[in-house]
Amino acid sequence: METIACPDCDLLQQLPELPPGGKARCPRCGNTLAVQPTDSLDRTLALTLTAAIVFIVANTSPLMGLSAVGRSASTTIIGGAYQMWLQGQDVTAMIVAFCAVIAPASYILFMLTVLIALRRPPAPHWVGEMLRWADSMQPWSMSEVMMLGILVALIKIAELATVEPGIGMYGVGGLIFLFAAIMVTFHPREVWKRVKWAEGAAPRTIDSE
Ligand SMILES: [Zn+2]
Repeated sequence: METIACPDCDLLQQLPELPPGGKARCPRCGNTLAVQPTDSLDRTLALTLTAAIVFIVANTSPLMGLSAVGRSASTTIIGGAYQMWLQGQDVTAMIVAFCAVIAPASYILFMLTVLIALRRPPAPHWVGEMLRWADSMQPWSMSEVMMLGILVALIKIAELATVEPGIGMYGVGGLIFLFAAIMVTFHPREVWKRVKWAEGAAPRTIDSE
């Protein structure tokens, strides 16, 4: 039995062992306290690995190609940010690079490290720290905002030139769904259950999966 506080109303309570697919609700406010997912960590690892591959494709293939009056050009995400930097818009360039490249890359990297380190419980103590870093990077990974910006730009440019969406664009579209899927599948409680305690003691309950 695990003692936890309800995140909504702070009621302290004992959490019974849940069957796979089971849910525990707070008796006072009805908030869902815990779910016992069937294989949350494996699914999250699979999704994160897919996201890593799609992320590399999205960042190395051209986002879109333009052709007008016989000239054509194409750019990648980071190439676009670099162009903005060259044109003197350094703040915008840095924000684009951070939200479109650095934040999602760090999020994927931290999540992969956490999930791979958990394959052999008990996980070392730094796994918890790394999970916090992933948490702080997650709100800054704004693939969907970037996609919206690209679409607006496309509609404007389409009046002037022929626009061809590149592989990178489909990659960014795929990442939006992958990030959403990771967030739905991932249950941080499953990680904390497997992390070694500060004094070096092993966690009391590790369910065998
Ligand atoms: Zn409650």
